[in-house]
Amino acid sequence: MFRLSSFAILVLSLLLLKSMSVDAQVVTPLPDKSVQEAEGGVWSPQPREVSPGKVECYTPTPAPSDADILFDGFDLSQWESVNGGDAKWPVAEGVFTADKKLGNIRTKKIYRDFQLHLEWKIPVDVQDGTHSQHRGNSGVFLQGKYEIQILDSYRHPTYIDGQAGSIYKQSPPLVNAMNPPGEWNTYDVIYKAPTFTDDGEFITNPIVTVLHNGVLIQNHFIIKGKSAHDDGPIILQAHRDRTTTDVSFRNIWIREL
Ligand code: MG
Repeated sequence: MFRLSSFAILVLSLLLLKSMSVDAQVVTPLPDKSVQEAEGGVWSPQPREVSPGKVECYTPTPAPSDADILFDGFDLSQWESVNGGDAKWPVAEGVFTADKKLGNIRTKKIYRDFQLHLEWKIPVDVQDGTHSQHRGNSGVFLQGKYEIQILDSYRHPTYIDGQAGSIYKQSPPLVNAMNPPGEWNTYDVIYKAPTFTDDGEFITNPIVTVLHNGVLIQNHFIIKGKSAHDDGPIILQAHRDRTTTDVSFRNIWIREL
């Protein structure tokens, strides 16, 4: 009887350990070395995966009273095409969607220091592209210059300073807090523009903090860049690849600081 009980405990323990190890570690295989080298950038270590809390992602975060509402669910009247004229990305059912053919859009108003909230979604039917960056690629440019990457980085590796939440080609996210395609993601961005003397002499670099789905992914990161002297728009990217369906956005607001 004792032997049987011990054996049962052993089997149960092994099963428990096996289930814990599967839950604790999601292994995302990297493409082979030749692909990594062809696409450039740094591929490892891939940021640790963190499952974000879900409530924030399903319920749009209401704008505070002093925010500029950049998208209220109805139209793109606060935006224009970077090529001139109106922003014509399609709007439907409280959401607008990037259109690669129409190019990037930018806010009509320009900003310096700000707190920005935006919500974005990789399409559920996103297709594999020929390049790790060709899968739901968009981005939000701060002061018209520095890109926070938008990409399907849910168990889809790319170079780490080009994945979702990276300051593109400068800083990978601290962790990967990505929701899967078809679910909303949030970015909350606190940005401080570079500073200059009255004579135009550089004093301090731009600094950015970013939360992705409520999880800190950029912590007071000092952006390399000394040239953004003037205030600039928020730009949303229509990435030039032709291989994926497009990213959608909703509920965007900004507070000047
Ligand atoms: Mg991009």
